[in-house]
Amino acid sequence: MLRDPPVRSRRRVQNAVGFLAVMLVAIFLACGFATAEIVGRSPRVLILHPYDEWLPASAIAGDNARERLQEATAGKIDLFSEYLDLSRFPEPAHIDRMARYMAEKYFDHRPDVVIALGESATRFIVSNREAIAPDAKIVFCGFGRDSGSKLNLPAGVVGAFSEFDIAKTLELARALQPDAENLFIIGGSAAFDRTWLDSARTDLAAASKDYATTYLEDYSINEFVERASHFPPDSIVLFLTILADSTGRNFLPKDALGIVAAKASAPIYGPYDTYIGQGVVGGNSVTFESLGNAVAGLALDALAGKPITDIEVPQTFFADARQLKRWGLSESALPAETALSFREPTLWEQHGDLVAGAIALVALQALIITGLLFERRRRFAAEGESRLRLLELVHMNQSATAGALSASIAHELNQPLGAILSNAEAAEAILKGKTPDLNIIQQILADIKDDDQRAGNIILRLRGLLKKRNAIDWQEFDLNEVVDSSINILHAEAEKRRVVVSAEKPGHRLPVRADRVHLQQVILNLATNAMDAMTDASTIDRKLTFHAALHDDAKVELSISDTGHGIPKNRLDSVFDAFYTTKSTGTGLGLSIARAIVETYGGKIWADNRAGGGAVFRFVLPLAEAA
Ligand code: ADP
Repeated sequence: MLRDPPVRSRRRVQNAVGFLAVMLVAIFLACGFATAEIVGRSPRVLILHPYDEWLPASAIAGDNARERLQEATAGKIDLFSEYLDLSRFPEPAHIDRMARYMAEKYFDHRPDVVIALGESATRFIVSNREAIAPDAKIVFCGFGRDSGSKLNLPAGVVGAFSEFDIAKTLELARALQPDAENLFIIGGSAAFDRTWLDSARTDLAAASKDYATTYLEDYSINEFVERASHFPPDSIVLFLTILADSTGRNFLPKDALGIVAAKASAPIYGPYDTYIGQGVVGGNSVTFESLGNAVAGLALDALAGKPITDIEVPQTFFADARQLKRWGLSESALPAETALSFREPTLWEQHGDLVAGAIALVALQALIITGLLFERRRRFAAEGESRLRLLELVHMNQSATAGALSASIAHELNQPLGAILSNAEAAEAILKGKTPDLNIIQQILADIKDDDQRAGNIILRLRGLLKKRNAIDWQEFDLNEVVDSSINILHAEAEKRRVVVSAEKPGHRLPVRADRVHLQQVILNLATNAMDAMTDASTIDRKLTFHAALHDDAKVELSISDTGHGIPKNRLDSVFDAFYTTKSTGTGLGLSIARAIVETYGGKIWADNRAGGGAVFRFVLPLAEAA
């Protein structure tokens, strides 16, 4: 069939010169290491496409093979492609012409490996191997072992076999349309189409018994369309290939499918994933991508001098979500691991970033809120804790004040007790007389009762002073009353120190809301400090003055002024610091506790010096009504 091109004889002469080398090559060939001889140049791979460049099947497989080869060799490879056009020109003359053309074309660039895509390309290169690529390894893909065995492939021609088992495509259709009753199988009139129809008849022999089965063949494209438009709705349609119709019109199978599917009245399935987008619901196939990859893998191994053997490329189910929707078929009925194309992206897929951002934002917000709540709880707990500390401190302060005033209080208590004693003794003496004057006795008893009352009041004040608080006892009361009770507690001490105490009060109530005992403690602290400051003053100048009044209509102000040594200007603020003291036995806590109490009840306290000498301490508290 093939005439040897004239250049062949020249090659023999060259080889004869290097007889030994040829022998070595022959030995390597026999061992399957033919390509181990590639030295000093890039390896050459020829990819043979069976039809023209528009057939997606071989285009996809070829592209994938090229990509893999380029990648694996980092581009150091010479890749050639030929399109044999054997569907439109199946005649021997064309095959012969192509073989001669390629024999000459590749004379100086003999391929090391030939990749044949599909059955007809394989048959072509096996028949014309001597002329085109005498030393090359031939690897192929695109058909199954059955077809392979019919080709009588010589040893050393190795393939990536694939089973385009149409029964598996029917399996997918059956899963989606379990109630279908009719089965239509469409095939064209080209040789390849007829091969397909033959193998479908064999592969579907068993399964087709469950349906009213009709093979549509030897039809023109228009007749196919006409039949397709009248399929009963409960039909499964398998579209094999139409490379040519009965009129001899050539097609790319996917185009023919598109024409038929556009008018079809029932879902169509097919054995090629390149049919996706042309109107098929789905099918089962070896993808052309994986074919290209697999055959390139064989080629790479061959180039590396590794022994290669036939392999099997796995099949997968595929489906088109738009067609499922069109025919109302359920996605969940698809076999597991079906590659589903054109599925409408979920909200997550469509706006994943946005959704993730929103979730992150909400999570962050939740985190911040939790943090704030936690912080708030902590603050409350801390506030509670510090309030408890304050209560304890105030109590300590009260005890210290009571201790400091104890001598004068004891002295004060002595007066009524002493009076009671002398009155009792007087009454005793009167009663010893013969005619005791009962009126005087009655008068004495009344005095004893008064003195007892006075002593009781003193003890009551002392108990009030020492009263311990576990929680603030909020009350509304008149600040004037607290000023009075404080003066009562202090007056004995003041007397002892020769301090003249005076109080200027308004003629109306000064209502505040606070713990009465706490405010009394503030006043006692300020007053005892004032008396301390006047220790060195001459006795006639020792004056302690209380002045209570309304302040700004919403506040109550109490000032306690003295005629003592005053406060250095730069100490007016720091006198309130804890542990600041100028006294040898001082603790430096009185003023800091006073400030803490006043602030607890929403007020303010500050110190000043009086123009005429001495200090004045003022504090304001919110008026109870305003508060
Ligand atoms: P302590 O009385 O134990 O020293 P305080 O906190 O009550 O603690 O007072 C702190 C300091 O403030 C006093 O040591 C004193 O120097 C000064 N101070 C307080 N009140 C007056 C006052 N009325 N006149 C002058 N100095 C004062």
